[in-house]
Amino acid sequence: MLMYKNWDDLIKECENCYKCPLGHTRTNIVIGRGNREASLMFVGEGPGEQEDLKGEPFVGPAGKLLDLLLDALMFDKNDYYIANIVKCRPPGNRVPTDEEAEACLNYLRNQVYLIKPKIIVCLGATAMKYIIDRNAKITQVRGQWVERKNCWLMPTFHPAALLRDESKKVLMWDDLKKVKLKFDEIRNPE
Ligand code: SF4
Ligand code: URA
Repeated sequence: MLMYKNWDDLIKECENCYKCPLGHTRTNIVIGRGNREASLMFVGEGPGEQEDLKGEPFVGPAGKLLDLLLDALMFDKNDYYIANIVKCRPPGNRVPTDEEAEACLNYLRNQVYLIKPKIIVCLGATAMKYIIDRNAKITQVRGQWVERKNCWLMPTFHPAALLRDESKKVLMWDDLKKVKLKFDEIRNPE
């Protein structure tokens, strides 16, 4: 059974965590950034090089692109919290293994418990896999809301995928527009 911790205890536990091999190669742990009371949460895959160096998620090239998209949709920095499936950088930015993701998931569950977001956006296949459906394909499920336990889940592409394939930009833009509509609806119910 998962025993939920408060923020201080959760952060302390993460900082001392070596439950999977990624703990031994990290520079800094990357827990999350943004508003801990936000109704909107984004979840990525795992820290990259910049994130590992700074201890903050989405501060490298993919993060810059995500910031641009969110700014364009008139999201405020205070509107959301952003975290990852794994809190330590996988060497060479490889995809985290099932064992690593499973070892780390309780920290994300604890974050969700503390934040209690109404919307969770899964950025890319890894976040979608561990949050929504282990067997789904991101290209097939992206852009479609999944309602679960009073929370709306939206799978979309990872911003790094847009850097590799321009054609995904318009699709991700559509998905994020849906998120913005839902976010406004939740904030200003009629
Ligand atoms: Fe612990 Fe997660 Fe880091 Fe693995 S990735 S050492 S489980 S904090
Ligand atoms: N990619 C991710 O999935 N997470 C980050 O924090 C940065 C890049």
